[in-house]
Order: sequence, then C-alpha cells, then structure tokens
Amino acid sequence: MDVPHYDWIAHHAMVTPGAPAQEDLHSKRRFTYLEMHRRIDAWAAWLQQEAGVRPGDRVATLCHNSTDANEMMFAAQRAGAIHLPLNWRLAVPELEFILNDATPTVLVYSEEFAPQVAELRGRCVLPHVVSKRDGEDSGYERAIAAGLTLAAPPRPGLDDVWVLMYTSGTTGRPKGAQITYRAQLFNAIHATMTTELTRRSRGLTYLPQFHVGGICLYAMPCFHIGASVAVMRQFDPQWCLDLIGTPASGITHLFGVPTNFLFMSQLPSFAEARFEHLVSVGIGGAASALSLLKLYADKGVLFQQGWGMTETCTIGTLLSKERALDKIGSSGQQVLHADLKIVDPSGVEVPTGQVGELLIKGPTVTPGYWNRPEANATSLADGWLRTGDAAYVDDEGFYYIVDRWKDMFISGGENVYPAEVEDAIFRMPGIAEVAVIGVADEKWGEVGRAFVVLKAGSGIDADDILEHCARHLARFKIPKSIRFLPELPHNATGKVTKHALPRE
Ligand code: AMP
Repeated sequence: MDVPHYDWIAHHAMVTPGAPAQEDLHSKRRFTYLEMHRRIDAWAAWLQQEAGVRPGDRVATLCHNSTDANEMMFAAQRAGAIHLPLNWRLAVPELEFILNDATPTVLVYSEEFAPQVAELRGRCVLPHVVSKRDGEDSGYERAIAAGLTLAAPPRPGLDDVWVLMYTSGTTGRPKGAQITYRAQLFNAIHATMTTELTRRSRGLTYLPQFHVGGICLYAMPCFHIGASVAVMRQFDPQWCLDLIGTPASGITHLFGVPTNFLFMSQLPSFAEARFEHLVSVGIGGAASALSLLKLYADKGVLFQQGWGMTETCTIGTLLSKERALDKIGSSGQQVLHADLKIVDPSGVEVPTGQVGELLIKGPTVTPGYWNRPEANATSLADGWLRTGDAAYVDDEGFYYIVDRWKDMFISGGENVYPAEVEDAIFRMPGIAEVAVIGVADEKWGEVGRAFVVLKAGSGIDADDILEHCARHLARFKIPKSIRFLPELPHNATGKVTKHALPRE
C-alpha cells in the first residue's frame, strides 16, 4: 500500500485498518480507517481527474457538520489542494466576497444550501459545483462510487497551506487565515501532550467545521493519533449533554465555547448527568465566567481552559487538569512549541502580572492572510502574531485572558474590561446570560451597557443588578444602563457577537 507523505489516514488504514475512524451521528454512518481512506482516495482522484484540481487550488465546502467534511479535508491534501470550509451562517453577499477572494475550483454544498448556491452561481466563477446529502445519492457520493485512482499524488510539504479559514470578520471584511500542514501537525502534538489523547480516545465534534474549533478540537489530533471521532451535525445542547453525560457513548474528549456549557447546564437533565468517564473537557474561545467553571467543577469536570485563535490553529495555551482548580480562571500555560509575550502599546514587554497585548510566535501561527499584504504587515512582524487580546501572566507562567483590546472601553479615564463586569453580573442567581459593551457618554467618554437574559421565572429588575454591581465592582465599572433581551446574538461557533448589540 502506497502511503502518501504525512497522510495520517493512509497511515492508520495501513496499521489499524479496522479501527473506528469516525461516526456521523446524524446519518448514523460509521467508517473504519480503511473505509475512510478509500473514500478519501476516490474523492481526491475525482478532484484531480474530473475537476482538474491542481496543487494549490482551493476546494470550498458549504455544509453542515458531517464525517464527509473530514474526508474532504484529507482529500484536499491528497489532491494537493487547499480546503476552504465556508460559514453557512453567512448571507449570500458575504459568501460572494469570500468566493471571489479565494476563487475555488470546486464548491461542494449540502443540499439544504441549494438556494444560496443557485444565487452564488450567478455572482461568482464556480467551475465545478457538487451536491452532497450525508451518504445519500448525490454528486459527491457518485464521484466516490466512480472509484477513480489518483495519478502521481502530489506530496505537499509542511510549509504548504492545507486550510484557508475565513475569520468571522467582526471588524471589516473577513480575512482568510492560511493554516499549514505544520500548524496542524503541531496542534495535534500539543493536544495529544496536554489532553491524554490515545488511540482509544473518542472525540466529539459539535463546533462548526468551518471554524478551527470544529476541526482542530479535537478531530484532527484524534486522526493524527488514530483515535475515533463522532460528528454532530450542529450543536444541540440536549443531544450533546445526553452523549457526554452517559459513559456508554464512549466520548472521552471534547472542547466547547462557554455558551455550549452554559446552555447544557441550564437543562433539567444536567442535575443527573455523570461526567467521570470524560478524560478531557476543554473550554475556551471566549471568556468563561468563573461561576460556570465552578458549577462544572462541583460535578467533577476539571475544565481545561485554553486560549487560541484561527490564526494559531487553536491551542496556544491550555490549563492542565492537575492545576484546573488552583488556577481556575486561567487559560493555562503556553504549549511546548510556542513563544508568547505580553507587550505595551509601544511593543515593549510588560512585567509579570501587568496587562498588555498578547503576542505569539511558533509553528502553529499562520504565515499570513490570503491576498492581504497590508493586514499581514500590521498583524505579523518577525513571525510574531499580534492577537488583539488583553492578557497577563503570573509568576508561574499561567496566562489570564482579560478581554479583547477592542472590547475594552475607557470610562472616566479608567480601563474597563467587560468580561470582568459580565462575570460579576452572572454570579446573580436568575441570570441566564449577559454581555457588556462600552457606549459613548458625554460625561465619562464611555460607559458600560449590560444586556441581560433572565432565566424563566426570574423576578430580577435593573435596580437589583445595579445594586449587586455596586457591592462587587468599582464605581467606574458599573454599567450605566441595563437592557433585557429574550436572547443574545451568537455566531455559529456560539460566541456572543457584541457588534450586533445596539449602541444607541
Ligand atoms: P477565533 O479566531 O474565532 O477562534 O477567535 C479567537 C479569539 O477568541 C481570541 O483572539 C480571543 O479573543 C478569544 N478567545 C479564545 N480563547 C479565549 C479564552 N480562553 N478566554 C477569552 N477569550 C478567548
């Protein structure tokens, strides 16, 4: 059997062909490593021979989560192409922008996105468009069934780009972060080193596969080591809780954003859920309220909080289980193959314990954004990525992410980090979710505004919240206005989209 260079699936198909590779929870399909390998081969050959995909070409996907998406990522590798997973929550003009920026040769879409694809075909150059239906008859399944063979497989090197991942674009137009083979390899090494991942592990994917969370935490590390992965079509709090709260599901590894764990904790069945069988539960991607971390700690879940970005192929820091309680609230220490530093606005490193902007350098950091020389010049100097995150590090090397620099606001000359205010408000019983932003104010320059979602039956009013804040926060941090909403806006990863909250 010819095992292509760096091809993890081909390797496991040779060594442990019958071992479970992945399961599609929605369509109930299961694949061993050998079966996955064969499907990847056939699709890669179709890309090469029928679609004329050449090394470096982009292959886009517009799909809900499925095992097919993991296959397509590895098939892009075998064909030497770049995997371009598109965010299905975007509107047609946003998708049009990305497609015109990345100019893919092939677009694969799940059937439910047919109307968007019909529109996009009139607006972008899309040489090959292929439908897929989670294992049922479709262009994708027919291409695999054709059973073509790759001619002279290209062998990408570690510096080549494997994935082009457009960041959410909360400021300006989305930018395509280029993620290399080296970045995926080192992220797999970091995940394996820090989460006790073995061949017998079973990871659960529910973060979207168009985000690094759905790929790197922990599907790719599982595939690297030869473990298995269960893929959920989309985050469903009840289904997810049923799976992770039941030993029989076999799930050992998962990672979520705080909203995922918050929503699961609000379900009635949370009280009975058992988590002792879980080996590693990661949380990150946004600030986690201490009370949420403690709620799970009381149920025996030692969250491994981590910090990372699309541009760092996820894990830059991760908290060990051993220190999960005494360093609760920290995003952990830096991974082995990364350099981190915290600098002031002039770029000078700040002393231990002082807040500054976090910078990172290392093999998982993107070599740059696609087609964006200006952004690369400002975000990446000498290989150091400016993260835009405000952080400090303690004297044992544990990092604390304070907030996004751009979310920080200045009230009467004092810096206010909304995450701290949110944490204080969230400690009140009866609060389901909260987000704080800075809004313009004539007297103070900026003041805080809190958006609050109440739990059903909660009798809390704005005065209660203000009184609570007065007891727990300095005056300049207390929001000047409270607005109640039925729900907060979230992006597809589950993070609160603060830019969508009203500032008027
Ligand atoms: P994305 O590229 O969508 O994954 O977003 C990355 C951003 O998420 C980072 O720059 C941080 O602002 C935020 N983030 C990631 N991990 C954490 C964490 N542990 N605590 C607070 N914010 C985080």
